[in-house]
Amino acid sequence: AKARGRNGYSFYAPSMTGEGVERLRLETFLRRSIEKEEIFLNYQPQVQIDTGRLVGVEALVRWNHPELGLIPPIRFIPLAEDTGFINQLGKWVLHEACRQMVRWQEAGLHVPKIAVNLSAKQFERGSIVNMVADILRETGLEPQRLQLEVTESVIMNTGDAMVFINDLHSIGVALAIDDFGTGYSSLAYLKQLPVQTLKIDRSFIKDISTDVNDEAIAIAIIQLGKSMNLSVIAEGVETEEQAGFLLRHGCNLAQGYYYSRPLTAGDMLARWQK
Ligand code: C2E
Ligand code: CA
Ligand code: CA
Ligand code: CA
Repeated sequence: AKARGRNGYSFYAPSMTGEGVERLRLETFLRRSIEKEEIFLNYQPQVQIDTGRLVGVEALVRWNHPELGLIPPIRFIPLAEDTGFINQLGKWVLHEACRQMVRWQEAGLHVPKIAVNLSAKQFERGSIVNMVADILRETGLEPQRLQLEVTESVIMNTGDAMVFINDLHSIGVALAIDDFGTGYSSLAYLKQLPVQTLKIDRSFIKDISTDVNDEAIAIAIIQLGKSMNLSVIAEGVETEEQAGFLLRHGCNLAQGYYYSRPLTAGDMLARWQK
């Protein structure tokens, strides 16, 4: 039978599997992770392919648990989404990312822009625009230097996402479509939304020089971006060959292991400060 837990979520009490127990344990740990200071951010550089110049970073959340070790976001983000903890986590991430931009600036490192990932669940509260505005005011980061990343499915499946995205635009925040090409194929939303950037998903970049279909998709996205006056950035660039391909086809922005793994705030400073 379905029982309702103290915190409002449901679980199947009698037939609790090993996996279920593990999940509950992780969830209990996760709920305390912020106050225990186990959560931190890594930052992955985004660069111009032709010059190697830093154009921005993407903030990527990390959870280091004292017993379980470093837990990848693919394991705890879905859990945070299911339990509602994502609202608290998302707010912490956004605040920390904006504050770090100011800290780098004070230390003499100018990072033009920071990209922060948003979950669908963060749009369900309705207060997202106020939250972002508050954080920008508190930290003093210029709105233009914050770029929020959302996937196509967030836009298509979240009732008021379009409204909130327009509101975010009106306070000066930039928007990128993450994992572009992997979600719903309706392109109609693109002309209605104040989007500045398309991120070509890593799955299309991976076999770009060997798979003609991936090649065709990547080229199509670059062309689409061009004709709609959007910037296009490729994610998951791991080789010189991939970077060369992108540059030849008109995409001059990239992020990936070929340039840099995600770095701690300190390593960012050490590597990019002049
Ligand atoms: P994403 O937004 O697509 O982020 C890119 C992922 O690709 C990151 O994994 C990054 O470390 C990885 N990556 C970057 N360059 C390369 C490369 O050259 N090769 C390969 N193989 N991988 C590369 P990460 O950090 O494990 O994050 C996974 C996903 O978790 C993210 O995918 C994003 O969907 C989610 N995520 C991470 N941080 C946050 C966050 O603060 N909030 C939310 N809502 N989701 C987050
Ligand atoms: Ca992303
Ligand atoms: Ca992505
Ligand atoms: Ca991706």
